[in-house]
Amino acid sequence: MSEKYKGLIASSGVAIGNLYLFTRDKVVISDNKIGENDTKEEFAKVKKAIDDYIQDLAKLEGASEAQSNIAKAHTELLSDPYFTDTIESKITNELKNSEMALDETIKEMVEIMSQIDDDYLRERASDYQDIGFQVMYKLKGITPKTLSNLDKGSIVISKELTPSDTSNMDKEAVVGFATDLGGKTSHTSIIAQTLDIPALVGMGDISKNVKGGEKAILDTNEGILIVNPSDEEISKYELLIKEQKEKKERLKEIKDKEAISTDGKKIEVSANIGNIEDLKLAIENGCDGVGLFRTEFLYMQNSDFPSEESQFEVYKEATQMLGDKPLIIRTLDIGGDKGLDYFEFPKEDNPFLGYRAIRLCLDKKEMFKDQLRGLVRASAFGNLKIMIPFVVNIDELKEARNLIEEIKEELDEKGIAYNKDLDVGIMVETSSSIIMADKFIKYADFFSIGTNDLTQYTLAVDRGNEHIADYYSNFNPAVLRAIKHVIDVSHKAGKWTGMCGAFASDTQATKLLLGLGLDEFSGSSAKIAEIKDTIITSSQEEEAKFADKVLDCELTEEVENLVKEHN
Ligand code: PEP
Ligand code: MG
Repeated sequence: MSEKYKGLIASSGVAIGNLYLFTRDKVVISDNKIGENDTKEEFAKVKKAIDDYIQDLAKLEGASEAQSNIAKAHTELLSDPYFTDTIESKITNELKNSEMALDETIKEMVEIMSQIDDDYLRERASDYQDIGFQVMYKLKGITPKTLSNLDKGSIVISKELTPSDTSNMDKEAVVGFATDLGGKTSHTSIIAQTLDIPALVGMGDISKNVKGGEKAILDTNEGILIVNPSDEEISKYELLIKEQKEKKERLKEIKDKEAISTDGKKIEVSANIGNIEDLKLAIENGCDGVGLFRTEFLYMQNSDFPSEESQFEVYKEATQMLGDKPLIIRTLDIGGDKGLDYFEFPKEDNPFLGYRAIRLCLDKKEMFKDQLRGLVRASAFGNLKIMIPFVVNIDELKEARNLIEEIKEELDEKGIAYNKDLDVGIMVETSSSIIMADKFIKYADFFSIGTNDLTQYTLAVDRGNEHIADYYSNFNPAVLRAIKHVIDVSHKAGKWTGMCGAFASDTQATKLLLGLGLDEFSGSSAKIAEIKDTIITSSQEEEAKFADKVLDCELTEEVENLVKEHN
C-alpha cells in the first residue's frame, strides 16, 4: 500500500524517484566556561571561522545566479557588525566559549527574524540557521555532508534544507525535494523554483516517516508525496510527466509571443517584481512589462528612508532594462503587515485599516517627495508609470498628483529631463475606490486591481488569517462583480484596467478574467507563458459570455464549479 503525505507547494512539477534521506551531522556544543584571559583568543576563533566561510562564499562568485545571490546575502549577514558584536559580547562579558557564543547568537537572530510580520523577512531566519551550521562546522573543523554526490533520480528528504545545501546539490541527480520545515517564500523554495525542481515544504515529520531508498512520487498539483506507489500510480504519473514535458516545450516557444485572443484582443502579460533580480527573471520569462514594482523592499532593506538619488538609480536601471515596455512603479506601500526597523509606527488594533501606504506618504511629504522625484526623473529613460496604492478618497489621488506637478515644475526650472506624458494610475483595492471608480477614473490614467487587498476588504476577511482562510476567495461573486465594474468604468472613460493581485497569476482564472475584459495581467514570472497560451487560444467574446454566466452566480462554490468545468 502506498502512503501519502501532504505538504506546501514550494515549486511546481511532478517527479518519480527514490527517496534520499539527508541528515545533518549532530554537533555537540561545548559548554566549558572560559577564563578572563582567554576572551581574545576565543573571539579570534569565531572570527577566523567566519572569515573562512566568507572565503568559501567568495568562490561562488560567478556560479549560478541562485548561488551567487545566496553568497551575497550570507556575506552581508556575516559582515553585519551587530552579529559579530553580539558574539564578542557573550565571550567578553559572559565568558562563554566560542561555540556557545555563536550558537546562542544564531538562535537569537533566528528568533528575531521568525517573529517579523513579513513573509519574506521571516524566511530569512533560515539564512541565519544556515550561517550557524556553516560557521560552526568551520569552528569545529567538521567537513559537512553535502548533496553533491547522489544517485540519479533522487528525491531529497530532510528536516530542512538550507540555502548552502541546495546550492551544492547535484542538479542532474535530484528530481525533487520535500522538507519538514520551510514556507513558500523560503530560500529553499526560491531555489527550487529557479532550478525548476518540484518541491514540497512544511511537511511536518516527513524526515522521520521515511527510511530512505523507497520509491516515491512527488506531485505538487495535489501537494502530496506518495511513498511506495502502486504500479498503477506509477503508470498514471509517468503519463502525466510526459504531458507536462510536452507542455513545457510548447510554453517555451510561446513566452515571447504577443498575447492576442483569437478574436483580436491584445492583452499585456506582465510581471510583479520587488527588485532588479526579479526583473531579470521576468524578462527571461517573456514579460510584456512590469505591472507592479513593490518599492517597499527598497525601504525595508535599508537603515533609513532611502535617498532620492539611490531610488532614482534603481528606477532608472529598471526602466532602461525594459526599453519601451511599461514599468509600473508603486509608491511606498508600507504599514499593515510591513514595518520598517528605523521608523516607529503607531500602535494600532487594526494596522491593515490604519496608518499605511498613501496615508503615511501624504503625512510625511518630504520623504514621499524624495521617492516621487526619483520616479519622475527616471521617467526620462523609458516607459515608467506611477501607481498610488490604498487610495480611499479622491483628494488623496489629487494631492499625490499635485506633488508630482510641483516636482515637474522644479525639474523644469533646473532643466532636468522627465517624461511630460508620465501616466499616474491607482491601485483599486479598497471598497470606496470600487464604488467611486467613475469619479477616480477622471484623475487616474489607469486602474490596476489589487485583488489581495480588494478581496480582503470586500469580503471583510483578513488575508493572513488562516482560521478564516475558507472565507477568502477571489472567486466570490461579490469580488468578481467588483472587478467587472471597475473594468467597465475604465473602458467607458477610454482607459484601461490591469490586475496585479495574485488572482492575475491564477491560471484557473485566466479565461474568466479575459471574459471580464481585463487588459493587463501582472503576476508571477513563472506563469507568463501559460497565461499567454490560454489567451492566444481563447476568444474574448466567447469568454465574455461565460463571464456573464458566472456573474449571475450566488455562491463561490457555484462559480468554482462552473470555472472548473469550463477550463
Ligand atoms: C494587492 O493588494 O493585490 C497587491 C498587489 O498589493 P500587496 O499584495 O502588496 O498588498
Ligand atoms: Mg495591496
